Amino acid sequence: MENKEGFIDSKELYSLIDLIGSGNELKMDEWVLLLSNISDDLSEYLFEKARTVKEKYYGNKVYIRGLIEFTNYCKNNCYYCGIRRDNIKADRYRLSDEAILECVDRGHDLGFRTFVLQGGEDLYYDDDHICRLVSSIKESWPDSAVTLSIGEKSYESYKAYYLAGADRYLLRHETAGKEHYKSLHPEEMSYDNRMRCLYDLKEIGYQVGAGFMVGSPDQRREDIARDLIFLKKFEPHMVGIGPFIAHKDTPFKEEKNGSLKETLFLLGIIRLMLPKVLLPSTTALATIAKKGRELGIMAGANVIMPNLSPVKVRKKYLLYDNKLSGGLEGAEGIEILKKSLEAIGSRISADRGDHCSLV
Ligand code: SAH
Repeated sequence: MENKEGFIDSKELYSLIDLIGSGNELKMDEWVLLLSNISDDLSEYLFEKARTVKEKYYGNKVYIRGLIEFTNYCKNNCYYCGIRRDNIKADRYRLSDEAILECVDRGHDLGFRTFVLQGGEDLYYDDDHICRLVSSIKESWPDSAVTLSIGEKSYESYKAYYLAGADRYLLRHETAGKEHYKSLHPEEMSYDNRMRCLYDLKEIGYQVGAGFMVGSPDQRREDIARDLIFLKKFEPHMVGIGPFIAHKDTPFKEEKNGSLKETLFLLGIIRLMLPKVLLPSTTALATIAKKGRELGIMAGANVIMPNLSPVKVRKKYLLYDNKLSGGLEGAEGIEILKKSLEAIGSRISADRGDHCSLV
């Protein structure tokens, strides 16, 4: 692919994008070549194709999910995360069932039809408790979907939540590189268990979300290639990606943040590779760049997850420094969000926003 002088023939790069668009799987060295040569022109070429496939399946609709961050207690110690167990500076909180259900009611009034319960791995909420919460939400609002994002559990626990009415589950795989996984997590956590969880969730019948951080410490292009190869094989219904952002009270406090360009490029690639996927333009992307959220939508994303947590706890769910939670990231900002999306030719959809193969 390189000529005698070591220059890359840029036609090769464009044709790799065409190959992805026609459903082909790239090999490791092809992915690495593509990821090593991201340019503005190549990105524009990609984004246009990504928007075209998105429109084919979802039109100009953007789905909204109300995110309720209900606990920041966590038994895990992921090196990147601001609410890791060893961060003694984290100001811990838990929301009561009443407070959670109030968030849901408020969200429903604002037009949300998906509620995402996300938290650290907090054993205070046992399986019965989670099931009670899920079934109360579904009883109050049978027109709405419930998504859980509460980490690694057993098959039986996942099954119980599903039977209680949970529709979807978000569990980013974080990295599909086994060695890289060890750079991001302590010994007691395992890549194999995280993967086991994802396969269990799919087998049970959830709409499943995987995903990873872009530019996390020690991530090599080969690791991103592995992420993409894994995503193509696993075919999740949703893929959450966003730039890694350092948190000042974690072992990664000195590490550099992921880049806007690379994150956008990967959003475009994922859309092209999995045309029907539900793909959020994440808070982390909006945090690292002005208009990051809109740029994500223009690169191929079609989901936004505004924050529905009570305002007084929002700053405490600090996964990384400067995490946005108000303004357009806050559920109450939905009217301004609508306008900013209209300005780029998109519109908020009022429906649940299931994966298009299921509706
Ligand atoms: N405990 C749940 C929810 C984790 S928080 C679980 O294990 O799935 C949701 C996501 O935030 C994580 O999966 C991770 O990819 C992301 N995240 C955590 N720390 C981050 C950081 N410093 N920068 C960017 N994203 C981060």
